[in-house]
Amino acid sequence: MIKEDIDRAASLMLASDYVVGLTGAGISVESGIRPFRGPGGLWTEYGEPPMDGYQRFLADPKRHWEQISRKDGYLGELYKALEGAKPHPAHYALAELEELGVLKYLITQNVDNLHRAAGSKKVAEIHGNFFRMRCIQCNSRYEQEEISLESIPPLCPKCAGIIKTDGVMFGEPIPLDVLEVCQREVGNSDCILSVGTSAFVYPAAGFPKQVKRNGGVLIEIGPYETELTALCDISIRGKAGKVLPQLVDSVKFKL
Ligand code: NAD
Ligand code: ZN
Repeated sequence: MIKEDIDRAASLMLASDYVVGLTGAGISVESGIRPFRGPGGLWTEYGEPPMDGYQRFLADPKRHWEQISRKDGYLGELYKALEGAKPHPAHYALAELEELGVLKYLITQNVDNLHRAAGSKKVAEIHGNFFRMRCIQCNSRYEQEEISLESIPPLCPKCAGIIKTDGVMFGEPIPLDVLEVCQREVGNSDCILSVGTSAFVYPAAGFPKQVKRNGGVLIEIGPYETELTALCDISIRGKAGKVLPQLVDSVKFKL
């Protein structure tokens, strides 16, 4: 039955003009990075963090950097997992769909850099990238090695604004440049493939709904039902690492 759903999903994707992907923490579970919510989730174990993280950062940026260097609590666990993680077959499958010209763009809520590591090029990281830093004044992104942490908070070499980690915090607006790319891509899309997201966090959770409202197709892959399942044209129950490579095979067979 799953095989039939996968074949149908492949046909719908090939019949569409502009397929966009949306991924969440679930696609990286098989790379050893735990999601936040649900069974095995980091917050399920540690509890939800305060929802005003960005306001706390602005009030005391130095403390934020001290916390990062201590790497305690759920953030510490996340960092450790991110540092050792490697892409797995689901990440490579999405990169291959881009290479084949079937997937036009990928929006990820993940901060783990694994889509880029797998070779995806057209990627919007709506919640940023844990391996980068960003100036809160001019939005310039920096690689870790470009910014010295000798004095904290570090300041932007271009505008002297305060630098934070690029990962978007609670209470922090999504950087406008990324949000614009996401809105453009979702506006162009007539088919969206949602993988490993609970569709709980906005604005990303609204993207599949928007494509659907515009008359497009919604395909979902994940082991459990989500907020989106009832809206889906096809909802494939399974792990991303198992289902996505089969979807690529099916697409290639039909091409
Ligand atoms: P989530 O934690 O809310 O939901 C994860 C979803 O993935 C769930 O629906 C779960 O059923 C599903 N899932 C679990 N295992 C899976 C598998 N093997 N294959 C496919 N799906 C699987 O994640 P979210 O919706 O992305 O939202 C939480 C926020 O947490 C995101 O905004 C993201 O920024 C952040 N986050 C990122 C990472 C990362 O970068 N890897 C990790 C944890 C959290
Ligand atoms: Zn700056």
